[in-house]
Amino acid sequence: VLSSPVKITPIRGAAASVASETVSIVIPVYNEAANLPALWQRLSSVLAGCKHTWEVVFVDDGSSDGSLAILQEVARGQEGRVRVVELARNFGQHSAILAGFRNSSGDIVVTLDADLQNPPEEIPRLLDAIDAGNDVVGGWREERQDQAYRRFASRLHNRLTSLIVGVPMHDYGCMLRAYRRHIVDTVVECDEKAAFVPALANSFAKRVTEIRVGHEARASGKSKYNLFRLAHLSLNLLTG
Ligand code: UDP
Ligand code: MG
Repeated sequence: VLSSPVKITPIRGAAASVASETVSIVIPVYNEAANLPALWQRLSSVLAGCKHTWEVVFVDDGSSDGSLAILQEVARGQEGRVRVVELARNFGQHSAILAGFRNSSGDIVVTLDADLQNPPEEIPRLLDAIDAGNDVVGGWREERQDQAYRRFASRLHNRLTSLIVGVPMHDYGCMLRAYRRHIVDTVVECDEKAAFVPALANSFAKRVTEIRVGHEARASGKSKYNLFRLAHLSLNLLTG
């Protein structure tokens, strides 16, 4: 006598990426007016050669330097492929990324910074690593162009994050990353107000990898992180 049949739920996200899949690029922006023209020039030429259909979601995180107007001007010429999410005030990089996730629809979501520290030219390599069957691909800045105290703090932070999440990675702080849709949706479902996005994403991902990526000095302006903000980010990691 057969017992009731076992219900088998298909694993989401196991399929390899195909050209018909869509990609969302999510970029948090806080007072980056001086960097946006060069960012858009480099990003748009990378996307012009991309095999996927794409959209770009810029999130203006309460800028006061005219960034929003520049982003809206870029979006006007792009027939819906570029959208701007406008936050009421400055909520921080990771909250801005979460807002971008909520307003993205791609099968794959790539995040990068607006200050050109993350070269947009690396995006195809991230997509190739997703193609290879990964749920999450993290960038690893081997030659990091930041101050010594930031590199030191990051080493501690990476150890701590690897321990908490249980997924060891060299560079949890690199925001040049790619995620499959089911990871993005699960992160959004968490409804965290102060998440540390790479850690949260890795806690749900089965297939995670990292690839070495280039890193440049900030094109213009200063880092938005001081010691207080870095400590705040670590607290979010511990409490999230
Ligand atoms: N950013 C943001 N909100 C903030 C701080 C930063 O959207 O409150 C954005 C910023 O505009 C940039 C990215 O997050 O696109 C990374 O910020 P930053 O370059 O200051 O960080 P660092 O590279 O020093 O870690
Ligand atoms: Mg930066």
